[in-house]
Amino acid sequence: MNAACSEPGRDCPLCPRLAGYRETLRLQHPDWHNAPVSDFGDGNACLAIVGLAPGVAGANRTGRPFTGDHAGAMLYAMLEKLGRSHGQYAAHADDRLTLDGVFITNAVRCVPPHNKPDVSEIHGCRPFLINTLKSLANLRAVLALGAIAHQSSVKALGGKLPKMPFSHGAVHRLHTGVTLIDSYHCSRLNTNTGRLTEAMFEAVLATALEIAYSPPLR
Ligand code: SF4
Repeated sequence: MNAACSEPGRDCPLCPRLAGYRETLRLQHPDWHNAPVSDFGDGNACLAIVGLAPGVAGANRTGRPFTGDHAGAMLYAMLEKLGRSHGQYAAHADDRLTLDGVFITNAVRCVPPHNKPDVSEIHGCRPFLINTLKSLANLRAVLALGAIAHQSSVKALGGKLPKMPFSHGAVHRLHTGVTLIDSYHCSRLNTNTGRLTEAMFEAVLATALEIAYSPPLR
């Protein structure tokens, strides 16, 4: 499969290490998704949320971004609280949940061992992130969850990293008119250590929605 395509194929070979891990997981868990995880959400969204990569027993198992693990429970609960979802999140891809004005994707579409993609894998998957962001005709804001999502989003949006360091709550205006907002990732590690609280996450998500849906400046 060619990275110029808008979606990677199920057996995308561009990252050999991740393809090998995928094969191992297919043998261990034949009933899991174990393939690149596609985007999810409202194609007319003004806000895209960019995560790191599928969690091994989360999106890699269920086939939908952030679905089936701790990070997803926090993210989808917050989207519901802020009135951006319809239906009941039930931690699987067939729960008929829909999002309103929000689109969710990942910087890397295949699960990496220990949640750690290497630089070549982040780079290799970026064309798919670029295509995803380009496909959102109404895009006005991107909420990046974590430093890797931030870095890949800056590059995907044509920004310059040295001028836009990652910092929780930071707001970066890109020359394209899209605004990038940073948040710590809503991972179990970050929430268990108190690095990211529910209140912090709600505040940063609310800010991102406000920026995405505020009237354009004249
Ligand atoms: S991470 Fe992206 S580029 Fe790499 S194998 Fe998976 S889909 Fe392909």
